[in-house]
Amino acid sequence: MFRIKNLIRSGSGLARLKHTLVVVEHDNQKLSQITLNTVTAATKIPKNETVTCIVAGTECGKIAEEVSRIAGVNKVLVVDDANLNGFLPETVAPVLVDLQKKNNFTHIAFGSSAFGKNLMPRVAALLDVQPVSDIVGFDDENTFVRTIYAGNAIQTVRSKDPIKIFTVRGTAFEAAKTGSSSAAEVASAEITAKGSDQAIFVNQQLAKSDRPALNAAKVVIAGGRGLQNGENFKILYDLADTMNAAVGASRAAVDAGYVANDLQIGQTGKIVAPELYIAVGVSGAIQHLAGMKDSKTIAAINKDPEAPIFQVADLGLVGDLFKEVPVMTKMLKENK
Ligand SMILES: Cc1cc2nc3c(=O)[nH]c(=O)nc-3n(C[C@H](O)[C@H](O)[C@H](O)COP(=O)(O)OP(=O)(O)OC[C@H]3O[C@@H](n4cnc5c(N)ncnc54)[C@H](O)[C@@H]3O)c2cc1C
Repeated sequence: MFRIKNLIRSGSGLARLKHTLVVVEHDNQKLSQITLNTVTAATKIPKNETVTCIVAGTECGKIAEEVSRIAGVNKVLVVDDANLNGFLPETVAPVLVDLQKKNNFTHIAFGSSAFGKNLMPRVAALLDVQPVSDIVGFDDENTFVRTIYAGNAIQTVRSKDPIKIFTVRGTAFEAAKTGSSSAAEVASAEITAKGSDQAIFVNQQLAKSDRPALNAAKVVIAGGRGLQNGENFKILYDLADTMNAAVGASRAAVDAGYVANDLQIGQTGKIVAPELYIAVGVSGAIQHLAGMKDSKTIAAINKDPEAPIFQVADLGLVGDLFKEVPVMTKMLKENK
């Protein structure tokens, strides 16, 4: 009976229904925004039947309850184990492999964040399948759309693997709604995590900020080498405060030590797509554009009228940032 329920006839024979696992990213206290985008992506996989979320962590019951109220989630499985402290891929990956062996999902989705990028290829290797990174869409349930060459070409890839394993670009999918009044079933995955003899979690240093997170902010203001030093970033923070904006940076600004590298936007940093992106003293190198060119409106302030950023900017101001930015801040404050 079970077999009949789980098989459907397709033109070429018997095809399995599609069941997707979403790997939840969290820190045991707070759910990561990218999980919501990943759930939406999972619900959009053609022919997908169910979305199951796995919450693996230490004392992560609160997160499991929160995940059960995300729209589109059918079931939440939980592995609550002290050995998962620090979310090391060496300890989390075998848990996901055990889960896959028990549940036989057709698709496994991760957010394309440092957590997902770290874990996904290891899981794929253990299951002996080819993963697909940073997808932005689907053509069908086997065919994924992703970008290559720093976002300058779009590649469509068909996977012949029995299990499709991929990371999802957060900015390419809306966030799923949270706080639904009806909750999905939450159950123990009945899997234990083993400690790793390859790595142990020692500690972490997190950058503290009162501003919105870069990947969730509606407005992002990015500073480049044109700012000249870290102190001068204050003029961007003053502007950001008038618009509840997040502040980001180019790699040149990070490499020069003006700001911490978790603020870097671009190919080797974060990918953002806010309503408004304001590039200040940023030339617009291809590797920077890879991280922000899907923003709804792009504005640029640069003293060089030939700067490549003006080719992607909807609004451009040729001028000295040290003069123009404080004027903008003053005008915005006056008009509040
Ligand atoms: C493999 C690889 C990966 C990379 N990944 C990234 C990445 O993820 N993100 C990223 O950003 N870069 C990345 N880069 C680096 C990238 O190629 C550029 O070097 C970098 O983006 C340049 O940063 P910038 O625009 O701040 O500096 P610059 O190119 O030096 O530009 C500074 C701009 O400020 C303007 N300016 C100066 N003074 C003023 C002023 N007073 N008022 C107004 N404008 C002023 C100048 O006209 C200039 O256009 C990568 C490079 C490589 C090779």
